[in-house]
Amino acid sequence: MVTDTPGIHHITGIVRDGQRNLDFYTGVLGLRLVKQTVNFNEIFTRHLFYGDETGTPGTSLTFFPYPAEEDGRIGQPQITTAALVIPPGSIEYWSDRLTAHNIEFDGPFERFDETVLRFTDPDGTQLELVTGDSSVKPWPDGPIPTQHAIRGIHSVTIRSVSIFVTASVLDTLGFELVDQEGDRVRYQAPGDRAAIVDLLDRDGEFGREGVGSIHHVAVRISDEEELYEWHNLFRDRGYDVSRVHDRHFFHSLYLREPGGILFELTTEGPGLTFDVDTDTLGQSLYLPPSLEEDREMIEGQLQPLELPPALKPN
Ligand code: ZN
Repeated sequence: MVTDTPGIHHITGIVRDGQRNLDFYTGVLGLRLVKQTVNFNEIFTRHLFYGDETGTPGTSLTFFPYPAEEDGRIGQPQITTAALVIPPGSIEYWSDRLTAHNIEFDGPFERFDETVLRFTDPDGTQLELVTGDSSVKPWPDGPIPTQHAIRGIHSVTIRSVSIFVTASVLDTLGFELVDQEGDRVRYQAPGDRAAIVDLLDRDGEFGREGVGSIHHVAVRISDEEELYEWHNLFRDRGYDVSRVHDRHFFHSLYLREPGGILFELTTEGPGLTFDVDTDTLGQSLYLPPSLEEDREMIEGQLQPLELPPALKPN
């Protein structure tokens, strides 16, 4: 038997410049760099993870920097937007902070009784800060005063080419239709964080994957055994589902559903702290053991990355 997912595990996007990405997510948004590794399928591409202090599932945005990739275009079918939670009293703080960093934003505006600021990261990835409750504790040593710091993922917004199929996949995973406002239909999973997916019932231009695109959204699955059960469930229903991969920090599989959205199903454990102490999280490049002997060669091929002073090892 499979059980409902409690919510989102992480969101992964494509960007051009790793340094610019690092500077924005740590320096402007105040997230912690919780893991640097390589794309396990393309080992000369970095994979950067940002999150709360320990990279708790439900707090992580991850990015692949592809220096030669062309710009993407927002459209269907795509995960168009990643939203992060801020405390209800923090809208003014964030408006001021974005302004101080010369980041243009829309809002604040109200949606589903929440207040929203909308902007893009330097690569064009669409982001929102949304007021709300979250069980996530802010990173106490981060650069943002803790009363205003980001509390993990709020939601993703999805534009599907087959809204009924995508809705049925969400329903199968454990997201329930809870509200609708205009062409935005809200689905919510039972967890205490990162539990929302908004489906936009909107036709329009087709998107193109590239710099500024969100590549996939991952949802949390309790363990590996259950992941295999999900694999069999989707396979038996005729979905395009990958085998289970060992990603070292978690096990996962990919589901490309007919609405055009790439979902990943990802185990909660062992988590990003499995190989290092919380104190040193994100400070060095993690490589799978099979690539360790080629570390020097791999590091030589990667775009250099200058860690912010606070992240440098002592
Ligand atoms: Zn992923």
